[in-house]
This record gives sequence, structure tokens and C-alpha cells, in this order.
Amino acid sequence: MKTIDDFDFKNKKVLIRVDFNVPQDEHLKVTDDTRIRASEPSIRKVLKDGGAVILMTHLGRPKNGVEDKFSLKHIAYKVSEVLGVDVKVANGIVNEDAQKKAAELKYGEVLMLENLRFNKEEAAGDYELARRLAAMGDFYINDAFGTAHRKHVSTAVLAEFFPNAKCFGYLMSHELDAINTILKTGKHPVTAIIGGAKVSSKITIIENILQAVDNLIIGGAMTYTFVKAKGGKIGNSLVEEDKLELALEIIEKCKQNQVNLYLPVDNVVANDFNNDAKTQITAVDEIPEAWMGLDVGPETNKLFATVISNSNTILWNGPIGVFEMENFAEGTKKLGEAIAEATKNGAFSLVGGGDSAAFVKQYGFADKVSYVSTGGGAMLESLEGKELPGVKAMMD
Ligand code: AMP
Repeated sequence: MKTIDDFDFKNKKVLIRVDFNVPQDEHLKVTDDTRIRASEPSIRKVLKDGGAVILMTHLGRPKNGVEDKFSLKHIAYKVSEVLGVDVKVANGIVNEDAQKKAAELKYGEVLMLENLRFNKEEAAGDYELARRLAAMGDFYINDAFGTAHRKHVSTAVLAEFFPNAKCFGYLMSHELDAINTILKTGKHPVTAIIGGAKVSSKITIIENILQAVDNLIIGGAMTYTFVKAKGGKIGNSLVEEDKLELALEIIEKCKQNQVNLYLPVDNVVANDFNNDAKTQITAVDEIPEAWMGLDVGPETNKLFATVISNSNTILWNGPIGVFEMENFAEGTKKLGEAIAEATKNGAFSLVGGGDSAAFVKQYGFADKVSYVSTGGGAMLESLEGKELPGVKAMMD
């Protein structure tokens, strides 16, 4: 498949779907411009070639059509700042103002259409909206990985109108390459670390990655469903009673697929779900009544670090302790350090899915892993083996 570098955008008006769904403060100022910077290379490529850019994004979740606080006019200053170009803003998506500004747009210039979700046809995948958007440009780039799991006009339907004039942007390509490395092309041994709260929310990922990995490390609250299923004593730890059978099935499937399954061996238990609770270290299957496991213990840190240091490809999704509380963040920090170390020694590491991405940023590991995914839901669905509508539309 052709990449963005295979095209020359000279004298082309290029519609780029980006994900500028940025956080804002109470004055609507942008508080984190990561998502804008993430698509900067794709925008620059078009401008450098001598093309014009028409940006399309959503912002927030407007419920009643046009709502001023979700208007992109509030974030345009930040896009201008990042690009060093004065970004024009249309007051609609395909209205007269948008069409006029798109028609008058000169090469080297950037226009941003209004919040796509002001138009309810966007989420409905409406063909007519797609046709009108398509009429404004000569080429379509999808660089919005964060919304690639949605079959909306701007993320999927629009691609049909550009049979020979469409491609992924750099961000989207990097995300897809990273997932592909984990699931298919990465050098073995491949290790996945799946943490977090519930077996039920991770089960589809676990089942899908079993055919790709050599080692599966399980941590977080999920641990206790496995430990209880195997007959251990878990005290007051979080458990999904209705998933005990499922835990045993996963253990069995690991054996069938010759995947080494690593569960914590010891843990930090507390007498309350509270940062200042009393703590002690116990074996993971010997937790006293009324105590609960909130972090992995020192033996487990060593075990996990050894597995990781022997891996060439690493996926990390989900914290392995209650990292929001300082006293139970140690295991997740140690895990981050082990992954950073393995990466330094040549392994490929992908961190993705909600909390773990936030964690690596907060603790300064973001630059020490190979790739931190920008897409929560889209990343999870890819790891579950689902075909993303935004990706499929590009292939058709
Ligand atoms: P998830 O969204 O499924 O990735 O779960 C993330 C959440 O799991 C975080 O908020 C953690 O605090 C929580 N978590 C991790 N380990 C434990 C544990 N041992 N007990 C309770 N919650 C945990």
C-alpha cells in the first residue's frame, strides 16, 4: 500500500482528518497540544510539497448541534502556533462559509473546518455529507488513529470518494506499524504485559494475542481472579467471581499455545483501599482475611524484569498495581524501568491503551519506549484483532 511519502501534493487541496480532540481549561485554552503535534508531520509534508490543507476534526462530545464551547475557533490559535501558519477557521463544515474558504484557499495555506460533530450526519456516516466534503478537496489523508474504530463520514466514508487519491498520514502509519510489529512481524521472544482491573475487559485482547506471543505477563487486580481460580487465598482483593472458569480456560489455552504465563508470585497487601493503609508483603496466594493485594511484590518485580530483559518485542497494556496511589505504584514503575532498559538494549516496545500511556508520560518513560500509542479505543480494538473501519476504508 502507498504511503504519504509516495505522493506529491503540489497544487493539491488535501482534506486531512486529524484528531485534535485536545484537553482545555475553563477559559477553553488548550492545556496539552500533544495531539496537534502528533499530526504536524503530515500537515507539513503537504505544505512543503506546495499543497493546501483542509483540516477536519471533532472536539468533545457536543450533544445539541452547535455549542460554542466545542467550537474549533477556541483551539485554532494553538494549531497556528504549532504550525507557524495562520490557520483560517470556517464557521461550518460544508456550509457556504466553509465552501467559500475552501475554494479561495491558496497553496501553502491551512483551513480548519468547524467541529465535525456539530453535524449529526458525521457520526451517522451520511453519504451526502461525505459527498459535500469530498467536493472541497482533491486528496484525502486519514491521520486520526484515535477515531479509526468509528465508522463516521470523516474517518471512513469519505475514503470512498478518493479511490486513487488517499493515504494514511504519518501518525496513523506509525500506529498501525507498531501494532503489526506486536501481532505479526516483531522479533521473538514476544512478551505481552496485560494489567488493569478486570479480566472481563481484557479477555478478547488476551485471546487474540495468544497466537502471537511467547510470554504473557498478567498483573493488576486481574491477578486475583486467576489466583482464586487456582485455589489460592486472596483475602479481600478485587475478584470477578463469575470469571473464575474463564481464568482457568486462559491458563489452559496458554498451555495449548505454548505461551509461558507469568502471574505475580508475591504482592503488597493493604488493610484498606487507601494510600496510608497498613501494608505487608505476602505470597500472592496466601493473603490474610481482610487484606487486599494492591501492588506486586519484590520477587515479582525481579521475575517480570527477567522475562522482559529476555524479550525482543514487548507490548504493555494496563498498570500492574494501583499506581494512582504513591504507595502502590512501585511495581508499575519497576515494570516501566525494565521495559525502558530492554528498549535501550534493542527491543521494540509498544505502550498502549488508556492508563498505561498516561502512566509512562507521568513517570517520564515516554521517551524510553519505542512507541506510545495515541489511541485508546482504537488500540484496544486492534489488539483484539478487530478490523478498524478507518483502516478498512483505506484498503478498499
Ligand atoms: P484498566 O482500566 O482495566 O487498565 O484498569 C486500570 C485500573 O486498575 C487502575 O485504575 C488501577 O488502579 C487498577 N488496579 C491495578 N491493580 C489493582 C489492584 N491490585 N487492585 C485494585 N485495582 C487495581
